[in-house]
Amino acid sequence: MLEYQAAKDLLKGKTILVTGAGAGIGRAAAIEFAKHGATVILLGKTVKKLEAVYDVIELAGYPTPAIVPLDLKGATEQNYRDMADTISEQFGHLDGLLHNASLLGALGPFEHIDIPSLEDVLKVNVTAQVMLTKALLPVLRQAPNASIIFTSSSVGRQGRAYWGPYAFSKFATEGMMQVLAHECDGTSVRVNSINPGATRTEMRAKAYPAENPFDLKTPEEIMPTYLYLMGQDSSEINGQQFNAQ
Ligand code: NAP
Repeated sequence: MLEYQAAKDLLKGKTILVTGAGAGIGRAAAIEFAKHGATVILLGKTVKKLEAVYDVIELAGYPTPAIVPLDLKGATEQNYRDMADTISEQFGHLDGLLHNASLLGALGPFEHIDIPSLEDVLKVNVTAQVMLTKALLPVLRQAPNASIIFTSSSVGRQGRAYWGPYAFSKFATEGMMQVLAHECDGTSVRVNSINPGATRTEMRAKAYPAENPFDLKTPEEIMPTYLYLMGQDSSEINGQQFNAQ
């Protein structure tokens, strides 16, 4: 979907929450959504990184974003409910939710899977997304047309040796997307997933340390699919798997 061209004001007046907005693909998405007119809620673990993204958006003159510091590993359902209440009070509704934050965890043979580390990956990549979505569905339903995007991976669509917990979590992500999309069929909320493909970020460098990062697309280059799925051009699209490259 690299060829999609978004209208300049595609997301004007919309409020969109992005998880993992401080770095990599989430950072690029937050800035791109703001550039197209959205007020972006920047959720992430490291406040300094979120503040740096906030500054980029402010300096560019895009709508003033909001910062929500939250560690998805430790957050409870109550934390998510409180956040949803704050969003409801401040904005009235939520037009978009990009589930982007993820943990890579350890790669290696199946019999070496460390169970506490498996549980961390599943908590951040799956359970936290269930809790966040559960809490935000009421505010998403208040929007005339809301979009939920889950972030998948090629190893969430076809299993691959040594990708362990990360791959399991991405299959769960695709399952979550399909179940929720089916439930949302015919409503004002649509749910889809994106596989970003090989992209120049810290996570990719950790997974492929020998690779030349300059051979890869940058997060900014893969944004057309994210814009397409957040904006009105995809309002009839529900339950689909997309590839950003
Ligand atoms: P990244 O550079 O590692 O960035 C991940 C982001 O998630 C960071 O902002 C990080 O925040 C945040 N995060 C991690 N753990 C968190 C937690 N416990 N609580 C809150 N935030 C947390 O990764 P990326 O490459 O941009 O990946 C973005 C998404 O694309 C992920 O879902 C990934 O699986 C998927 N993906 C990426 C590629 C690729 O080639 N890059 C390919 C396929 C799929 P901190 O920096 O504060 O830790």
